[in-house]
Amino acid sequence: MAVLNRLFFRCTRAAASTPAFCTKSSLNDLHTAPSSATAALSSALPIDGSKGKGRNVQWVFLGCPGVGKGTYAARLSNLLGVPHIATGDLVRHELSSHGPLSSQLSEIVNQGKLISDEIIIDLLSKRLEDARAKGETGFILDGFPRTLRQAEILEGVTDIDLAINLKLREEALIAKCLGRRLCSECGGNYNVACIDIEGEDGNPRMYMPPLLPPPQCESKLITRSDDTEEVVKKRLQVYNEMSQPVEEFYRSRGKLLEFDLPGGIPESWPKLLQALNLDDHEDKKTAAA
Ligand SMILES: [Zn+2]
Repeated sequence: MAVLNRLFFRCTRAAASTPAFCTKSSLNDLHTAPSSATAALSSALPIDGSKGKGRNVQWVFLGCPGVGKGTYAARLSNLLGVPHIATGDLVRHELSSHGPLSSQLSEIVNQGKLISDEIIIDLLSKRLEDARAKGETGFILDGFPRTLRQAEILEGVTDIDLAINLKLREEALIAKCLGRRLCSECGGNYNVACIDIEGEDGNPRMYMPPLLPPPQCESKLITRSDDTEEVVKKRLQVYNEMSQPVEEFYRSRGKLLEFDLPGGIPESWPKLLQALNLDDHEDKKTAAA
């Protein structure tokens, strides 16, 4: 904890010299988020009063397994120039690099137990220290906080500007999870599900094309043993129970941005940027070229 505390203290102090992330001219244009979330976003803006300077975003991504948090978090971190810190990656990295916690971790993972808050925070602190050493500021967290306790700890040491809660209609989510395939040779991730759901109750039709493997992987696809309908539904139920207090924690602080994914990346990405009041300059340049 002390490490995390020191770290965030230093991050905050170093903040004034780093450029602000790119936003449109006024946060008052933010129509899609509630006004309290606007205030939360505003806190990501200049803290020293000078225009164009301020610390980078400190955002967290919430959303159930399979919703695509990693994809959107990675894209946003790329756009904003902040590290995308996924706790799943931290655990995998610690295990594969035989770090100080790896033997303890592999025991926990092999027994199918939940990794404790302490270990996750330890790994996260280390990752943020590394980020600092590399001169990175700000972050987008993916997979943390997962519990109310983790959210409270995080809030105790730093200011989270915004918690983005990604949501997808449950039938699409289940189909997506059941369609996941892994190439046993190259490790590539694919999805064979073609989701096409008629709109009802005012919902527009939802179409998400499959992400098919290249020909050389086709015969080597495997399904993860825990991607069965029963396990997927159980996983969602467990997630929902655990995440509700976390969502409520950020909602009550005016920091929760609920975002219903309207479909796949082509539909969702521009709408997500709009909801965050961000511009994807790269996309525009490509479009204009
Ligand atoms: Zn392959």
